[in-house]
Amino acid sequence: MSRCLGFALENLRQVVLGFRQARALKKSTSLAIGYGLPILSQPPEELTRPLLHRVHSAIELAARNARAARRLRNYVRFVLIREGKVSGFLKASRTIVLSHELLMHASTEEIASVIVHETVHARINAFGVGTWSSRLPEIESRCLREQMEFLEHLPGTEHIIQHLQQYVGTVW
Ligand SMILES: [Zn+2]
Repeated sequence: MSRCLGFALENLRQVVLGFRQARALKKSTSLAIGYGLPILSQPPEELTRPLLHRVHSAIELAARNARAARRLRNYVRFVLIREGKVSGFLKASRTIVLSHELLMHASTEEIASVIVHETVHARINAFGVGTWSSRLPEIESRCLREQMEFLEHLPGTEHIIQHLQQYVGTVW
């Protein structure tokens, strides 16, 4: 497949995904606004509302990093609390996903570092860098590096940094 056709198909896929994600997001409950972003909940509200203060504190902590703050303002549209263990970034709808599990068990510093990580994805996405599988390890490593740099400024996070180090150079 030619590179151009590949890009066109990828763009089309993103548009379709964007519609699907927007439809799913509309079914989510809007809990609050954090740093100007709607915080949405996929699990029932009574499960996630008690975790809302953790989302707020983590966004505020992440936004103390100037780069992360700029990216949150410019390249992110929603924060979604989702069931399960997997956090991430939904490119088509520019949504940072925070897993229910993360919010239940991680420290504010760790949640904030995940937000920082995802803002790097948001920025890379906004600049139209295709996430071709060959580039994924490079992109993940970059996000992880910024996540670890962020944590280095916060006391008591050495164990998180150590844990993250093992993922540099791999896709997860
Ligand atoms: Zn990542």
